[in-house]
Amino acid sequence: MRVLVFGAAGRMGQEICSAVEADVGLELCGAVDPNRHDGKQSDNSVVTAKTIRDIDPSTIDVAIDFTVAEAARENIAWCANNGVHAVVGTSGLNNDDQELFATLFSQSNCLLAPNFAIGAVLMMRFAEISAPFFPTAEIIELHHDNKVDAPSGTAMQTLERMSSASEEWGADPTLNEIVTGARGGKGPGGISVHSVRMRGLVAHQEVLLGTEGETLTIRHDSLDRSSFMGGILHACKVIGEFPGVTVGLDRYLGL
Ligand code: NAD
Repeated sequence: MRVLVFGAAGRMGQEICSAVEADVGLELCGAVDPNRHDGKQSDNSVVTAKTIRDIDPSTIDVAIDFTVAEAARENIAWCANNGVHAVVGTSGLNNDDQELFATLFSQSNCLLAPNFAIGAVLMMRFAEISAPFFPTAEIIELHHDNKVDAPSGTAMQTLERMSSASEEWGADPTLNEIVTGARGGKGPGGISVHSVRMRGLVAHQEVLLGTEGETLTIRHDSLDRSSFMGGILHACKVIGEFPGVTVGLDRYLGL
């Protein structure tokens, strides 16, 4: 598979370029990032282009996007219009975006995954399975101090899946919130979500569930960005088998 990386100069993009180059089943054929457009050879073997307009889509089978939501919208539409598969990890895309992408992809496929770490995919699945058995739940997601959106895409997808799995959520007992926001934000199902941003962290999430006499804590930690690479490379190799737009890595892993 011939691979293009959007956001190639970013924290994720640099690591993805290296991982693609190290994989015998993939070939890094293009890279785009407006922050690295000096025309010099990047750390990887391809020259990073300034814009998408410098890329010939006939040379690319699959594009990987880890940028920002506004850029990703344009990049994903370019993929759809040019028959290029899109593996997307960028956070901040919403349900309206998903519906639009579903109308755009006919010649190629698209995967939108809020988390490419296998353990995080399992954490979301476990939370979804557990939801009907626990009437109270809260999510704490913790990320590095450069993350611009809150809550994380992983937290949003976890909330959506838990709220779809159960409608029996207990009411919040709080009558007096002394510090505004102390009870977090309310996501789908009214489930509270708390976002921690802290230097030294990568990407972490705890799902806390409680019922009479017992609690269940499901926690996942991405300790390093390498945790995302296996899922991303796997998605690039199998995306041709999953027509249209897929949300979440689960189906790609046979879950
Ligand atoms: P970053 O800020 O280090 O990198 C983003 C890069 O995108 C920057 O270099 C920027 O110049 C580039 N960019 C902006 N507009 C562009 C465009 N039009 N075309 C090409 N490149 C463009 O951020 P990061 O830490 O690498 O994270 C990137 C995204 O990936 C974020 O949305 C983050 O939340 C998400 N993320 C997802 C997962 C996952 O598993 N799904 C894991 C980690 C990060």
